[in-house]
Amino acid sequence: MSQSTWKDQIKKKWGPHSHCPICGKAMPMDKQFCSQNCRDNYYASQKKQKKKSRIQMLVMVGMMAVLMVFLLFSSGF
Ligand SMILES: [Zn+2]
Repeated sequence: MSQSTWKDQIKKKWGPHSHCPICGKAMPMDKQFCSQNCRDNYYASQKKQKKKSRIQMLVMVGMMAVLMVFLLFSSGF
């Protein structure tokens, strides 16, 4: 009986591998991205994410400041 599932076949064909986090292509285990292009994309989106979270921080701090001022003024000035 030589019944091999498609999973076994894929394992045999591809060997151990991981997937590119950007485009999802199969690639060697030791690589982080399948290509220079995906690498650039990843770092670009990370940079954007950082900028976004910084803006969110600023908005939070600004809201806190407004709230503090509001509380100060509403408590008897
Ligand atoms: Zn890729």
